[in-house]
Amino acid sequence: MVQKPKGTYDVIGEKGKEILYLEKLLTSLMEKYNYQYIRTPIFENSELFHRGVGETTDIVTKETYDFKDRSDRNMTLRPEGTAGVVRSFLENKMYATETFPSKNWYLGPMYRYERPQAGRFREFYQFGVEVFGADSAMMDAEVISIPVTFYKLLGLKGVKVKINTLGDNVSRENYHRALIQYFEPYIEDMCEDCKARFLKNPLRILDCKKDSHKDYMKSAPKIIDYLNSESKVFFENVCKYLDALEIDYEIDTSIVRGLDYYTHTVFEVEANIKGNACALCGGGRYNHLVENIGGPSTPGVGFALGFERLISVLEEENIELCSSKAVDVYVFANTLEENKEVFAFVQMLRMNGFSADTDYMDRKYKANFNRADRLGAKYIAIIGKEEVENHFVTFKDNQTKEEYHVHMENVISFLDERIEEEE
Ligand code: AMP
Repeated sequence: MVQKPKGTYDVIGEKGKEILYLEKLLTSLMEKYNYQYIRTPIFENSELFHRGVGETTDIVTKETYDFKDRSDRNMTLRPEGTAGVVRSFLENKMYATETFPSKNWYLGPMYRYERPQAGRFREFYQFGVEVFGADSAMMDAEVISIPVTFYKLLGLKGVKVKINTLGDNVSRENYHRALIQYFEPYIEDMCEDCKARFLKNPLRILDCKKDSHKDYMKSAPKIIDYLNSESKVFFENVCKYLDALEIDYEIDTSIVRGLDYYTHTVFEVEANIKGNACALCGGGRYNHLVENIGGPSTPGVGFALGFERLISVLEEENIELCSSKAVDVYVFANTLEENKEVFAFVQMLRMNGFSADTDYMDRKYKANFNRADRLGAKYIAIIGKEEVENHFVTFKDNQTKEEYHVHMENVISFLDERIEEEE
Protein backbone atom coordinates (compact mmCIF):
# COMPACT_ATOMS: atom_id res chain seq x y z
CA MET A 1 0.00 0.00 0.00
CA VAL A 2 1.21 3.52 -0.71
CA GLN A 3 1.98 5.30 2.55
CA LYS A 4 2.08 8.97 3.48
CA PRO A 5 5.37 10.80 2.78
CA LYS A 6 7.92 10.85 5.60
CA GLY A 7 7.41 13.76 7.99
CA THR A 8 3.70 14.21 7.22
CA TYR A 9 0.64 13.13 9.18
CA ASP A 10 -3.10 12.67 8.77
CA VAL A 11 -5.67 14.43 10.89
CA ILE A 12 -8.39 11.97 11.80
CA GLY A 13 -11.14 11.51 14.40
CA GLU A 14 -10.97 13.66 17.55
CA LYS A 15 -7.79 15.40 16.34
CA GLY A 16 -9.87 17.08 13.62
CA LYS A 17 -12.14 18.59 16.26
CA GLU A 18 -9.17 19.86 18.27
CA ILE A 19 -7.65 21.56 15.26
CA LEU A 20 -10.93 23.18 14.27
CA TYR A 21 -11.34 24.37 17.84
CA LEU A 22 -7.90 26.02 17.80
CA GLU A 23 -8.65 27.61 14.44
CA LYS A 24 -11.95 28.96 15.72
CA LEU A 25 -10.31 30.39 18.82
CA LEU A 26 -7.65 32.11 16.69
CA THR A 27 -10.23 33.44 14.25
CA SER A 28 -12.25 35.00 17.05
CA LEU A 29 -9.11 36.38 18.72
CA MET A 30 -8.06 38.00 15.45
CA GLU A 31 -11.48 39.59 15.07
CA LYS A 32 -11.06 41.12 18.53
CA TYR A 33 -7.62 42.49 17.62
CA ASN A 34 -9.03 43.73 14.28
CA TYR A 35 -6.59 41.83 12.04
CA GLN A 36 -7.63 40.74 8.54
CA TYR A 37 -7.27 37.24 7.11
CA ILE A 38 -4.85 36.82 4.22
CA ARG A 39 -4.22 33.70 2.13
CA THR A 40 -1.33 33.27 -0.28
CA PRO A 41 -0.26 30.33 -2.48
CA ILE A 42 1.44 27.29 -1.00
CA PHE A 43 4.09 27.45 -3.72
CA GLU A 44 5.88 30.56 -4.95
CA ASN A 45 8.68 31.34 -7.36
CA SER A 46 11.85 30.05 -5.66
CA GLU A 47 13.52 33.43 -5.96
CA LEU A 48 11.07 34.93 -3.47
CA PHE A 49 12.47 32.86 -0.62
CA HIS A 50 16.09 33.43 -1.61
CA ARG A 51 15.57 37.18 -1.66
CA GLY A 52 13.10 37.29 1.17
CA VAL A 53 14.08 34.78 3.80
CA GLY A 54 17.81 35.05 3.14
CA GLU A 55 20.63 33.09 1.61
CA THR A 56 22.23 32.16 4.92
CA THR A 57 19.11 30.81 6.54
CA ASP A 58 18.99 27.03 6.98
CA ILE A 59 15.40 26.78 5.85
CA VAL A 60 16.42 28.21 2.46
CA THR A 61 19.86 26.67 2.02
CA LYS A 62 19.06 23.16 3.19
CA GLU A 63 15.40 22.61 3.76
CA THR A 64 13.24 23.80 0.90
CA TYR A 65 11.12 21.59 -1.31
CA ASP A 66 12.14 22.85 -4.74
CA PHE A 67 10.72 21.65 -8.01
CA LYS A 68 10.46 22.65 -11.63
CA ASP A 69 6.97 23.01 -13.00
CA ARG A 70 6.07 21.68 -16.43
CA SER A 71 7.26 24.92 -18.04
CA ASP A 72 10.65 24.61 -16.37
CA ARG A 73 10.08 27.38 -13.82
CA ASN A 74 11.78 27.07 -10.41
CA MET A 75 9.14 26.73 -7.73
CA THR A 76 9.37 26.25 -3.96
CA LEU A 77 6.83 25.03 -1.43
CA ARG A 78 6.72 27.83 1.13
CA PRO A 79 8.93 27.10 4.17
CA GLU A 80 7.39 30.01 6.13
CA GLY A 81 4.59 32.53 5.78
CA THR A 82 6.18 35.96 5.85
CA ALA A 83 7.79 36.13 2.38
CA GLY A 84 4.52 35.21 0.62
CA VAL A 85 2.51 37.74 2.63
CA VAL A 86 5.06 40.47 1.84
CA ARG A 87 4.95 39.53 -1.85
CA SER A 88 1.18 39.74 -1.80
CA PHE A 89 1.28 43.07 0.05
CA LEU A 90 3.44 44.44 -2.78
CA GLU A 91 1.82 42.75 -5.74
CA ASN A 92 -1.65 43.87 -4.66
CA LYS A 93 -0.32 47.37 -3.87
CA MET A 94 -1.72 47.09 -0.38
CA TYR A 95 0.78 49.79 0.63
CA ALA A 96 -1.29 52.21 -1.47
CA THR A 97 -4.79 50.99 -0.68
CA GLU A 98 -4.63 50.06 3.01
CA THR A 99 -4.60 52.44 5.92
CA PHE A 100 -1.52 51.82 8.02
CA PRO A 101 -0.86 49.77 9.98
CA SER A 102 -2.04 46.97 7.74
CA LYS A 103 -2.65 44.11 10.20
CA ASN A 104 -2.89 40.63 8.66
CA TRP A 105 -3.12 37.05 9.86
CA TYR A 106 -2.69 33.72 8.10
CA LEU A 107 -2.94 30.04 8.80
CA GLY A 108 -1.76 27.21 6.62
CA PRO A 109 0.74 24.49 5.84
CA MET A 110 4.48 25.12 5.52
CA TYR A 111 7.12 22.74 4.14
CA ARG A 112 10.66 22.12 5.32
CA TYR A 113 12.86 19.18 4.46
CA GLU A 114 13.96 18.63 8.06
CA ARG A 115 14.82 15.43 9.88
CA PRO A 116 11.44 14.41 11.29
CA GLN A 117 11.38 14.08 15.08
CA ALA A 118 9.00 14.72 17.96
CA GLY A 119 7.05 17.89 17.14
CA ARG A 120 9.01 18.46 13.91
CA PHE A 121 7.43 17.60 10.59
CA ARG A 122 8.07 18.21 6.92
CA GLU A 123 4.55 19.50 6.44
CA PHE A 124 3.37 21.51 9.43
CA TYR A 125 0.82 24.22 10.12
CA GLN A 126 1.58 27.73 11.21
CA PHE A 127 -0.62 30.56 12.37
CA GLY A 128 1.04 33.93 12.02
CA VAL A 129 0.53 37.67 11.79
CA GLU A 130 2.31 40.27 9.66
CA VAL A 131 1.81 43.96 10.31
CA PHE A 132 3.03 46.57 7.83
CA GLY A 133 3.57 50.28 8.04
CA ALA A 134 4.06 50.98 11.76
CA ASP A 135 7.59 51.50 13.04
CA SER A 136 6.17 51.55 16.51
CA ALA A 137 7.15 49.89 19.76
CA MET A 138 3.47 49.68 20.69
CA MET A 139 2.91 47.60 17.56
CA ASP A 140 5.64 45.14 18.59
CA ALA A 141 4.10 44.77 22.04
CA GLU A 142 0.66 44.15 20.49
CA VAL A 143 2.07 41.45 18.19
CA ILE A 144 3.83 39.80 21.13
CA SER A 145 0.62 39.92 23.15
CA ILE A 146 -1.23 37.77 20.57
CA PRO A 147 0.49 34.41 21.21
CA VAL A 148 0.73 35.24 24.92
CA THR A 149 -3.04 35.77 25.10
CA PHE A 150 -3.75 32.72 22.96
CA TYR A 151 -1.63 30.40 25.12
CA LYS A 152 -3.16 31.80 28.29
CA LEU A 153 -6.68 31.34 26.91
CA LEU A 154 -5.83 27.71 26.27
CA GLY A 155 -4.83 27.34 29.90
CA LEU A 156 -1.05 26.95 29.52
CA LYS A 157 0.97 27.84 32.61
CA GLY A 158 4.18 29.85 32.88
CA VAL A 159 3.65 31.75 29.64
CA LYS A 160 6.69 33.98 29.27
CA VAL A 161 8.31 36.08 26.55
CA LYS A 162 12.05 35.90 25.86
CA ILE A 163 12.93 39.11 24.10
CA ASN A 164 16.02 40.64 22.55
CA THR A 165 16.85 43.39 20.09
CA LEU A 166 19.14 43.26 17.09
CA GLY A 167 19.01 47.03 16.73
CA ASP A 168 18.83 48.99 13.50
CA ASN A 169 21.23 48.47 10.58
CA VAL A 170 23.93 50.70 12.08
CA SER A 171 23.86 48.85 15.41
CA ARG A 172 23.78 45.51 13.62
CA GLU A 173 26.82 46.37 11.54
CA ASN A 174 28.79 47.47 14.61
CA TYR A 175 27.84 44.28 16.36
CA HIS A 176 28.64 42.19 13.29
CA ARG A 177 32.19 43.59 13.28
CA ALA A 178 32.62 42.92 16.99
CA LEU A 179 31.46 39.33 16.58
CA ILE A 180 33.88 38.67 13.70
CA GLN A 181 36.74 40.03 15.76
CA TYR A 182 35.72 38.02 18.80
CA PHE A 183 35.03 34.67 17.11
CA GLU A 184 38.04 34.65 14.76
CA PRO A 185 40.47 32.92 17.19
CA TYR A 186 37.90 30.15 17.81
CA ILE A 187 37.11 29.16 14.23
CA GLU A 188 38.95 25.87 14.52
CA ASP A 189 36.81 24.86 17.55
CA MET A 190 33.55 25.53 15.74
CA CYS A 191 31.17 23.03 14.18
CA GLU A 192 31.05 22.98 10.38
CA ASP A 193 27.81 25.00 10.28
CA CYS A 194 29.31 27.73 12.47
CA LYS A 195 32.43 27.91 10.30
CA ALA A 196 30.14 28.75 7.38
CA ARG A 197 28.11 31.16 9.54
CA PHE A 198 31.29 32.98 10.54
CA LEU A 199 31.75 34.10 6.96
CA LYS A 200 28.12 34.69 6.03
CA ASN A 201 26.29 35.72 9.20
CA PRO A 202 28.22 35.49 12.50
CA LEU A 203 25.09 36.47 14.44
CA ARG A 204 23.73 33.01 13.78
CA ILE A 205 26.67 31.43 15.65
CA LEU A 206 24.97 32.66 18.82
CA ASP A 207 21.99 30.37 18.37
CA CYS A 208 23.99 27.28 17.43
CA LYS A 209 22.64 24.29 19.35
CA LYS A 210 25.81 22.18 18.88
CA ASP A 211 28.32 24.74 20.15
CA SER A 212 26.19 26.43 22.81
CA HIS A 213 28.08 24.77 25.71
CA LYS A 214 31.54 25.91 24.55
CA ASP A 215 33.40 28.44 26.71
CA TYR A 216 33.92 31.02 23.99
CA MET A 217 30.12 31.26 23.54
CA LYS A 218 29.58 32.39 27.11
CA SER A 219 31.63 35.57 26.86
CA ALA A 220 30.67 36.55 23.30
CA PRO A 221 29.87 40.26 22.86
CA LYS A 222 26.28 41.21 23.61
CA ILE A 223 24.17 43.29 21.21
CA ILE A 224 22.96 45.48 24.07
CA ASP A 225 26.48 47.01 24.21
CA TYR A 226 26.45 47.92 20.52
CA LEU A 227 23.06 49.57 20.20
CA ASN A 228 22.87 53.19 19.12
CA SER A 229 20.60 55.44 21.13
CA GLU A 230 17.59 55.17 18.75
CA SER A 231 17.68 51.39 18.93
CA LYS A 232 18.04 51.47 22.71
CA VAL A 233 15.05 53.78 23.12
CA PHE A 234 12.95 51.64 20.75
CA PHE A 235 13.71 48.53 22.77
CA GLU A 236 13.01 50.26 26.08
CA ASN A 237 9.65 51.34 24.70
CA VAL A 238 8.73 47.80 23.63
CA CYS A 239 9.45 46.69 27.19
CA LYS A 240 7.39 49.59 28.55
CA TYR A 241 4.36 48.54 26.49
CA LEU A 242 4.78 44.91 27.55
CA ASP A 243 4.72 46.17 31.13
CA ALA A 244 1.50 48.03 30.37
CA LEU A 245 -0.13 44.72 29.38
CA GLU A 246 1.44 42.99 32.40
CA ILE A 247 3.18 40.50 30.13
CA ASP A 248 5.88 38.45 31.78
CA TYR A 249 9.13 38.84 29.83
CA GLU A 250 12.86 38.34 30.18
CA ILE A 251 15.63 39.91 28.10
CA ASP A 252 17.65 37.07 26.58
CA THR A 253 20.59 38.08 24.41
CA SER A 254 20.98 34.60 22.95
CA ILE A 255 17.72 35.02 21.01
CA VAL A 256 18.73 36.02 17.47
CA ARG A 257 16.15 33.94 15.50
CA GLY A 258 17.01 31.78 12.53
CA LEU A 259 15.91 34.12 9.77
CA ASP A 260 18.12 36.80 8.24
CA TYR A 261 15.54 39.52 7.92
CA TYR A 262 15.02 40.66 11.50
CA THR A 263 15.87 44.14 12.83
CA HIS A 264 15.15 45.51 16.33
CA THR A 265 12.78 43.29 18.30
CA VAL A 266 13.12 39.50 18.21
CA PHE A 267 11.20 37.27 20.58
CA GLU A 268 10.08 33.80 21.48
CA VAL A 269 7.19 32.82 23.71
CA GLU A 270 7.54 29.84 25.99
CA ALA A 271 5.30 27.98 28.42
CA ASN A 272 6.07 25.77 31.37
CA ILE A 273 5.50 22.17 30.34
CA LYS A 274 5.97 19.57 33.07
CA GLY A 275 8.41 21.87 34.86
CA ASN A 276 10.46 22.79 31.79
CA ALA A 277 10.35 25.99 29.76
CA CYS A 278 9.32 25.06 26.25
CA ALA A 279 9.57 27.54 23.32
CA LEU A 280 6.35 27.59 21.33
CA CYS A 281 6.64 30.40 18.83
CA GLY A 282 8.80 33.24 17.64
CA GLY A 283 8.89 36.40 15.61
CA GLY A 284 10.22 39.89 15.34
CA ARG A 285 10.50 43.15 13.46
CA TYR A 286 11.70 43.27 9.86
CA ASN A 287 12.10 46.85 8.75
CA HIS A 288 13.91 46.12 5.45
CA LEU A 289 12.26 42.97 4.17
CA VAL A 290 9.65 44.77 2.05
CA GLU A 291 12.45 46.78 0.38
CA ASN A 292 14.55 43.64 -0.13
CA ILE A 293 11.68 42.02 -1.95
CA GLY A 294 11.42 45.06 -4.22
CA GLY A 295 8.85 47.32 -2.56
CA PRO A 296 8.83 50.77 -1.01
CA SER A 297 10.52 51.06 2.36
CA THR A 298 7.88 49.76 4.78
CA PRO A 299 8.47 48.57 8.33
CA GLY A 300 7.02 45.23 9.37
CA VAL A 301 6.61 43.05 12.42
CA GLY A 302 5.19 39.56 12.83
CA PHE A 303 5.40 36.12 14.37
CA ALA A 304 4.45 32.54 13.62
CA LEU A 305 3.36 29.71 15.86
CA GLY A 306 3.28 26.02 15.05
CA PHE A 307 0.19 23.89 15.67
CA GLU A 308 1.88 20.51 16.09
CA ARG A 309 4.11 21.46 19.00
CA LEU A 310 1.20 23.26 20.63
CA ILE A 311 -1.10 20.25 20.36
CA SER A 312 1.52 17.94 21.82
CA VAL A 313 2.17 20.23 24.80
CA LEU A 314 -1.57 20.61 25.42
CA GLU A 315 -1.72 16.82 25.57
CA GLU A 316 1.27 16.65 27.91
CA GLU A 317 -0.41 19.14 30.20
CA ASN A 318 -3.70 17.22 30.00
CA ILE A 319 -5.49 20.27 28.71
CA GLU A 320 -8.62 19.18 26.94
CA LEU A 321 -9.83 21.41 24.16
CA CYS A 322 -13.61 21.66 24.44
CA SER A 323 -13.83 20.00 21.12
CA SER A 324 -16.04 16.98 21.67
CA LYS A 325 -19.14 18.77 20.61
CA ALA A 326 -21.92 16.21 20.84
CA VAL A 327 -24.73 16.17 18.32
CA ASP A 328 -27.87 17.93 19.56
CA VAL A 329 -30.46 15.57 18.12
CA TYR A 330 -30.29 12.09 16.65
CA VAL A 331 -33.37 11.33 14.59
CA PHE A 332 -34.63 7.99 13.28
CA ALA A 333 -37.69 6.47 11.74
CA ASN A 334 -39.81 3.83 13.38
CA THR A 335 -40.17 1.97 10.09
CA LEU A 336 -38.69 2.47 6.62
CA GLU A 337 -41.98 4.16 5.65
CA GLU A 338 -41.08 7.34 7.58
CA ASN A 339 -37.53 7.76 6.24
CA LYS A 340 -38.54 10.61 3.95
CA GLU A 341 -40.13 12.59 6.80
CA VAL A 342 -37.10 11.90 8.99
CA PHE A 343 -34.72 13.09 6.30
CA ALA A 344 -36.64 16.36 5.87
CA PHE A 345 -36.92 16.82 9.66
CA VAL A 346 -33.14 16.47 10.16
CA GLN A 347 -32.52 19.11 7.53
CA MET A 348 -35.10 21.43 9.12
CA LEU A 349 -33.30 21.11 12.49
CA ARG A 350 -29.93 21.93 10.89
CA MET A 351 -31.38 24.99 9.18
CA ASN A 352 -32.65 26.18 12.55
CA GLY A 353 -29.20 26.04 14.10
CA PHE A 354 -29.13 22.60 15.73
CA SER A 355 -26.66 19.85 14.95
CA ALA A 356 -28.57 16.80 13.85
CA ASP A 357 -27.78 13.39 12.48
CA THR A 358 -29.77 10.37 11.44
CA ASP A 359 -29.67 6.71 10.46
CA TYR A 360 -28.77 6.12 6.82
CA MET A 361 -28.53 2.36 7.12
CA ASP A 362 -31.93 1.11 8.19
CA ARG A 363 -30.79 0.11 11.67
CA LYS A 364 -33.08 -1.67 14.08
CA TYR A 365 -34.71 0.28 16.93
CA LYS A 366 -32.15 -0.76 19.58
CA ALA A 367 -29.17 -0.26 17.28
CA ASN A 368 -30.37 3.31 16.73
CA PHE A 369 -30.27 3.98 20.46
CA ASN A 370 -26.71 2.64 20.58
CA ARG A 371 -25.70 4.88 17.74
CA ALA A 372 -27.29 7.92 19.45
CA ASP A 373 -25.16 7.15 22.50
CA ARG A 374 -21.99 6.85 20.43
CA LEU A 375 -22.70 10.26 18.91
CA GLY A 376 -23.35 11.65 22.38
CA ALA A 377 -26.78 12.87 21.26
CA LYS A 378 -28.50 15.12 23.78
CA TYR A 379 -31.95 14.28 22.42
CA ILE A 380 -33.30 11.41 20.38
CA ALA A 381 -36.22 12.09 18.04
CA ILE A 382 -38.35 9.25 16.71
CA ILE A 383 -40.82 9.58 13.88
CA GLY A 384 -43.28 6.74 13.24
CA LYS A 385 -46.59 6.32 11.46
CA GLU A 386 -48.60 7.87 14.31
CA GLU A 387 -46.24 10.86 14.51
CA VAL A 388 -46.54 11.53 10.76
CA GLU A 389 -50.33 11.28 10.82
CA ASN A 390 -50.70 13.57 13.84
CA HIS A 391 -47.85 16.01 13.08
CA PHE A 392 -45.79 15.42 16.18
CA VAL A 393 -42.37 14.02 17.10
CA THR A 394 -41.44 11.79 20.03
CA PHE A 395 -38.39 13.20 21.81
CA LYS A 396 -36.35 11.40 24.40
CA ASP A 397 -33.95 13.27 26.66
CA ASN A 398 -30.94 10.99 26.38
CA GLN A 399 -29.77 11.85 29.91
CA THR A 400 -32.96 11.68 31.97
CA LYS A 401 -34.68 9.25 29.53
CA GLU A 402 -37.83 11.35 29.88
CA GLU A 403 -40.15 11.26 26.89
CA TYR A 404 -42.03 14.16 25.25
CA HIS A 405 -44.55 14.33 22.44
CA VAL A 406 -43.95 17.64 20.71
CA HIS A 407 -46.16 19.07 17.97
CA MET A 408 -44.21 19.91 14.80
CA GLU A 409 -44.99 23.59 15.27
CA ASN A 410 -43.39 23.62 18.71
CA VAL A 411 -40.26 21.60 17.95
CA ILE A 412 -37.90 24.56 17.61
CA SER A 413 -39.07 26.32 20.75
CA PHE A 414 -38.93 22.99 22.62
CA LEU A 415 -35.27 22.53 21.62
CA ASP A 416 -34.39 26.21 22.07
CA GLU A 417 -35.44 25.98 25.69
CA ARG A 418 -33.39 22.86 26.34
CA ILE A 419 -30.26 23.10 24.25
CA GLU A 420 -27.76 25.82 24.99
CA GLU A 421 -26.41 27.69 22.06
CA GLU A 422 -22.71 27.03 21.55
CA GLU A 423 -20.19 29.69 20.50
P1 AMP B 1 10.12 29.50 12.67
O1 AMP B 1 9.32 29.80 11.43
O2 AMP B 1 11.26 28.57 12.41
O3 AMP B 1 10.46 30.71 13.45
O4 AMP B 1 9.15 28.65 13.60
C1 AMP B 1 8.01 29.17 14.23
C2 AMP B 1 7.27 28.03 14.90
O5 AMP B 1 6.86 27.09 13.90
C3 AMP B 1 8.12 27.20 15.85
O6 AMP B 1 8.09 27.71 17.15
C4 AMP B 1 7.49 25.85 15.79
O7 AMP B 1 6.39 25.79 16.68
C5 AMP B 1 6.94 25.78 14.38
N1 AMP B 1 7.79 24.95 13.49
C6 AMP B 1 8.90 25.31 12.81
N2 AMP B 1 9.38 24.28 12.08
C7 AMP B 1 8.56 23.22 12.32
C8 AMP B 1 8.51 21.87 11.89
N3 AMP B 1 9.41 21.37 11.05
N4 AMP B 1 7.52 21.07 12.35
C9 AMP B 1 6.58 21.55 13.19
N5 AMP B 1 6.57 22.82 13.65
C10 AMP B 1 7.54 23.65 13.22
